Amino acid sequence: MTAQLIDGIALSKSIRAEVGARAAALAAAGHRPGLAVILVGDDPASAVYVRNKVKACAECGIHSVLEQYDAALGQAELLARIEALNADASIHGILVQMPLPRHIDPHKVIEAIATAKDVDGFSVHSAGTLMTGLPGLRPATPYGCMKLIESTGVDLRGKHAVVVGRSNTVGKPMALLLLQANATVTVCHSATPDLAHHTRQADVVVAAVGRRNTLTASMVKPGAIVVDVGMNRNDEGKLCGDVDFAGVREVAGWITPVPGGVGPMTITMLLVNTIEAASATAA
Ligand code: NAP
Repeated sequence: MTAQLIDGIALSKSIRAEVGARAAALAAAGHRPGLAVILVGDDPASAVYVRNKVKACAECGIHSVLEQYDAALGQAELLARIEALNADASIHGILVQMPLPRHIDPHKVIEAIATAKDVDGFSVHSAGTLMTGLPGLRPATPYGCMKLIESTGVDLRGKHAVVVGRSNTVGKPMALLLLQANATVTVCHSATPDLAHHTRQADVVVAAVGRRNTLTASMVKPGAIVVDVGMNRNDEGKLCGDVDFAGVREVAGWITPVPGGVGPMTITMLLVNTIEAASATAA
């Protein structure tokens, strides 16, 4: 069996077309959606992510502001900038690119962002809305993974989903979203003794570890949906995920590639969150 590819680029394209239409409608009603992106320091990977986010905004008609600061920026100054953006009516979403320099407490920064503008969905409030099933802004990567899974047409009700990884930004919110979709969810992590025992029983596996070949063919149930969040480099320096793609695609029913799977969806769902935040203000 060769798995069907879940194409994150194609899905992103169609969702971004909807985002563009919604942005245009909001702008026509005098509520042009706006996203502020803050980058502190000169981490090259962060610079690329931030550039891609700003570019995606421009392509969808979302107003964006990029604020770049030297790594020496003080925490108080950063918090003051966030306060100003919280009060800025042209900005509906605020994103502070992580990681921050060591002298800045990321929790303080995330909590400083107004709840309604927390388009990364990382604040305690946003996590609480997800936990309790209330409406709120969902973290973009797991939100994108859910859209990729939905695109297979498989109903998650009663399915067994295994999430590998338990970070606050990917693994934990992913597990909660799957639970909300009525899957039976298992969360594995570095202290899980026999990972394969769990993944072999899964109808859906989401790998969010950050180590290549974490999931190999013998660990996957035939026909399963496999979503690969990982971003790693192989021996040739090429981008790869956590899943042994060549092996697993011969066993799985559906699989996301890296690149071209979760990555594009993460930015797309950030745009969706910005539109949602702007719509809430316009309502
Ligand atoms: P993270 O904070 O480092 O979390 C990694 C998780 O993997 C931890 O919960 C860790 O367990 C678990 N883990 C480590 N070794 C394991 C093992 N041998 N077996 C089972 N679990 C293990 O990373 P993250 O931020 O969640 O990101 C995960 C990966 O996704 C990274 O490669 C990252 O670059 C990528 N990512 C991609 C996107 C995208 O848009 N494509 C977005 C976000 C992240 P413990 O909790 O026990 O340490």
